[in-house]
Amino acid sequence: MTGNDLGALYAARERFTSLLGAGAVLADGVIFDEFRDPFEGPEAQSHRAALVIQPETVDQVQAALAVANELKVHLWTSSMGRNYGYGGSAPVKNGAIVLNLRRMNRILEINAQQGYALIEPGVSFHQLYQALRDEKIPLMMSVPDLGWGSIIGNALEHGYGYNILGDHSSALCGLETVLADGTLLRTGQGAIPNSPLWSCHRRGFGPSLDDLFKQSNFGVVTKAGLWLMPQPEVKAVGTILCQQEHDIVPLIEAMRPLLQEGILQGIPMIVGTPVGDDVANIGQGRFTVANLRTVLRPGRWNVRFGFYGRADMVSQRQSILQKAIHAVLPNAEIELRTYAGDAGPDEVEPRDYISAGIPNQVLLDRLRSVFGETFGHMDVSPVIPFTGEAALRLDQAMREIAGRHGVLGPVGMLCNPRSMVAACMLMFDASDPDQVKAARNAARDLYAQARDWGCAPYRSHVALVDEVAETFSFNDDALGRMYSKIKNAIDPVGILSPGNHGIWPDRSI
Ligand SMILES: Cc1cc2nc3c(=O)[nH]c(=O)nc-3n(C[C@H](O)[C@H](O)[C@H](O)COP(=O)(O)OP(=O)(O)OC[C@H]3O[C@@H](n4cnc5c(N)ncnc54)[C@H](O)[C@@H]3O)c2cc1C
Repeated sequence: MTGNDLGALYAARERFTSLLGAGAVLADGVIFDEFRDPFEGPEAQSHRAALVIQPETVDQVQAALAVANELKVHLWTSSMGRNYGYGGSAPVKNGAIVLNLRRMNRILEINAQQGYALIEPGVSFHQLYQALRDEKIPLMMSVPDLGWGSIIGNALEHGYGYNILGDHSSALCGLETVLADGTLLRTGQGAIPNSPLWSCHRRGFGPSLDDLFKQSNFGVVTKAGLWLMPQPEVKAVGTILCQQEHDIVPLIEAMRPLLQEGILQGIPMIVGTPVGDDVANIGQGRFTVANLRTVLRPGRWNVRFGFYGRADMVSQRQSILQKAIHAVLPNAEIELRTYAGDAGPDEVEPRDYISAGIPNQVLLDRLRSVFGETFGHMDVSPVIPFTGEAALRLDQAMREIAGRHGVLGPVGMLCNPRSMVAACMLMFDASDPDQVKAARNAARDLYAQARDWGCAPYRSHVALVDEVAETFSFNDDALGRMYSKIKNAIDPVGILSPGNHGIWPDRSI
């Protein structure tokens, strides 16, 4: 079949309605509209959902898959469905039915002693944070820049937060998934009936399958364990600010050993702000560099970071960092504010919420207040070497490419001990179809540039996934062919999220 044809869709709508109830099947309206790319603009792009279904239980997910298999319709899985900047909940395959798990939002367990939570896909960062506070559980979570998303959706997408467990994908431990044929499978220790260790010990016996269900279309994840860190005695959070373009080279040279040694904790984020009067008026409408500067942090380079733990250790880490940075950058400004480990939104300054593990919407609210309600962005996120030279090269390429296409392109970099994940936002007015097109073309050009460096994005907008997947072409695309073999074996018709991350079954669909 070539897609979800109208007859099949009509039948599917009836079947899903009798299975899940009319309220769980959306074909239009305000809530339905949340499941398109929020920044696609007024012109329909070719990544539209035909229907949205919202099961509430694992049984309902399995039953929905049975219907999809019978009618041979394509589904597209999302949890909260707020993958903004990468297409939201829009499917790769036009006309797919979005299988949205927002209503499966139970926190099944929080284990304060072992430091984990077992959650369903609809649980948001806000929801888990509130539960920890309401029950005064001394555990701390890592949050991304927006708190309204799903923890599981974000982690399956390889998303990042910024404190100690900020590599969210690695913070998952043990998954429950429904395969395309409806089989219910638990990974790792979870495959032992009544295991006490499902969310505590990552591996079982034999190969670990967890990563197969991340950035893929091999299953619908219905539960996951999430590791949480003990609430620290104190959290000291703030920034390092440098004024000169080339400061980035010694800055990264000083940070790398500290991250590798574990002195610097979590995922420090470096943001580059375009400086100088000559560039202030670049841009169009409200989307000018001058306005952008009001949103970004001060300085040419600004690192957001935090220290967590016992007060004496945090203070030691602080002085080691200060010594290391000032040895190479005497004029760098290091600013830290120290809060009690249990300090909440009333005690912490809003600019410190993210590093302090408090979910919020401050960044999106700020962007909309400066650029207007039609603010749109597309994230371009190549993984690059953890060197100052690579950072400068990215910054220059981003400025040149974004400028050529008439959109703004600030540069962010998330620091792992041995790599950086760029988080560059192409910003544009989503009410203008020409700007939407320009942003996609700019993203394509940046992907091509990254390919020349031997690099690729860690995640991508749904419109560009095949182009990214083709970058991983070693030995006649051996990796992509392996993914297709697995897809063919477990979902030959492509019922589940066909095309997600460039993974298709061989059979033409
Ligand atoms: C201003 C701004 C700032 C942002 N900052 C960050 C940031 O700091 N860090 C970050 O990581 N992102 C960031 N994002 C991007 C994005 O908004 C978040 O990653 C968001 O959490 C993703 O949406 P979600 O959690 O609702 O995931 P979803 O949209 O539900 O899921 C994302 C993808 O995961 C897969 N998936 C989801 N659920 C399942 C499932 N149950 N089974 C199988 N596959 C599944 C699907 O491929 C889906 O498309 C930002 C976006 C904006 C607009």
